[in-house]
Amino acid sequence: MNASYRTSAVVVGAGLAGLTAAAGLAAAGVEVTVLEARDRVGGRTHGLKVGPNAWIDAGAAYLGERHTELLSLMAELDLKTTPTTMHGASRFALGAADTTRDGRFPPLNAVALGDMFELLDELTAAVRPEAPWLTPDAERLDRLTAAEWAEQHLTHPDARLFFPLFLGEMMAADPADVSVLHLAFYLRSGGGIRYLNAFEGGAQQDRIAGGAHQACERLADRLGERVRLNQPVLAVHQDDDGVTVRTAHGDYRADVAVLALPPLLADAVEHRPELPVRRASGRTARGCAVKVNLVYPEPVWREHGLSGWSVNAEGPLLSTVDDSPAGGGVGVLTGFVTGSEAHRYAALTPEQQREAAVGQAARLFPMLPEPIGFRLTDWVNEPYSHGCYAALFGPGDWLRLGPTLTAPHGRVHWAGTETSTEYFGLMEGAIRSGHRVVAEILNQA
Ligand SMILES: Cc1cc2nc3c(=O)[nH]c(=O)nc-3n(C[C@H](O)[C@H](O)[C@H](O)COP(=O)(O)OP(=O)(O)OC[C@H]3O[C@@H](n4cnc5c(N)ncnc54)[C@H](O)[C@@H]3O)c2cc1C
Repeated sequence: MNASYRTSAVVVGAGLAGLTAAAGLAAAGVEVTVLEARDRVGGRTHGLKVGPNAWIDAGAAYLGERHTELLSLMAELDLKTTPTTMHGASRFALGAADTTRDGRFPPLNAVALGDMFELLDELTAAVRPEAPWLTPDAERLDRLTAAEWAEQHLTHPDARLFFPLFLGEMMAADPADVSVLHLAFYLRSGGGIRYLNAFEGGAQQDRIAGGAHQACERLADRLGERVRLNQPVLAVHQDDDGVTVRTAHGDYRADVAVLALPPLLADAVEHRPELPVRRASGRTARGCAVKVNLVYPEPVWREHGLSGWSVNAEGPLLSTVDDSPAGGGVGVLTGFVTGSEAHRYAALTPEQQREAAVGQAARLFPMLPEPIGFRLTDWVNEPYSHGCYAALFGPGDWLRLGPTLTAPHGRVHWAGTETSTEYFGLMEGAIRSGHRVVAEILNQA
């Protein structure tokens, strides 16, 4: 290896992927600068303070036992988990009548839903997670949208009703936006439907006590002045001797660059020489989620035997969950507005958004008082996220973009949860991509 090749690196993006990469490179003695567009670190993790010592997650929140790299990062940063609260009955507004019942299985035709999950399991089992474009029948599966697949395969009205709600909850997707190959890959990459969807023993079992944003904040604290905020990167130019990373405020020079950005944003950066294959296509869509946090003096639904969990056919809140901080102080009901509903809701005025969400929460949980706080994060229109939970790979994307997803472009390396075939779209995937890129740079021949 050429020693000078790895003596300096500019990391673009101070989310979990970028900061993991920067920490790993710095630990190996590489001179690192992290350029972050926002005035904060964390990217798609973001904490909001809702009371003295009470924080809630406006972005990523949940994790499970298989998220081993996140758990070990948390241990290193002295962060603890807190269980997601799921005691009590669930509320369902999925038809003519609202229903309250134990468990999370919706009051819909169990056979129709069982058949649907079996079909999805078959697709998920067949996908090649490490190289989805090599999946048998990949071309057809990559051409077909999940909406078209549902039209062809789901005949029962209950399955047709539930499918988009399931996709909204799992991956913040409108079925028209993702290919079937992407759907199958996403479910497989995240550990399969049961793991991804489960609270106890699954991917939603725990939260990070005090908020997921702390992981990035603590990593950034360690990196100190190496992290520069308010530095949106516009261009990356390479020559024989290194890279020049251009922001509105000046140029940064280094041996290598790591772009730890969601694909739509990595694609917006000007590259010289040009990328042989773009990072996103015209069919790559923004994940559609608006997250609403309703704050009450306490989690009153618990006194009424309710978990705070609800699933609803009508928006804006297609699902709700009890996200009250572990230490008490306030009760927080989080509402997810996903899929095409997120676009409709995002277009309303702030007053209309509040009225619709507060009104729906009060219909679902009539015991609720007026909220003492209302926080809304429109991730679809966040300029430095372009959607969440992750980018949605549309028809043709895996075949077109997949083979070069992690391939370095000269001195430019790629990180970010969307470059991880393990736990794609999750915090775990972001951290794993950070580790991968460090190994890639340090092992460069
Ligand atoms: C509402 C919501 C709920 C979620 N729920 C979960 C969950 O429960 N569990 C889970 O594991 N994951 C969840 N996720 C997904 C998780 O947040 C992401 O997978 C992960 O945080 C992505 O990290 P990243 O570093 O790859 O990207 P990001 O966090 O997006 O980091 C990219 C960084 O690059 C910066 N940037 C962008 N453009 C530029 C530029 N041109 N120049 C410089 N900087 C730039 C951005 O500001 C950002 O800080 C959720 C996300 C959201 C938003």
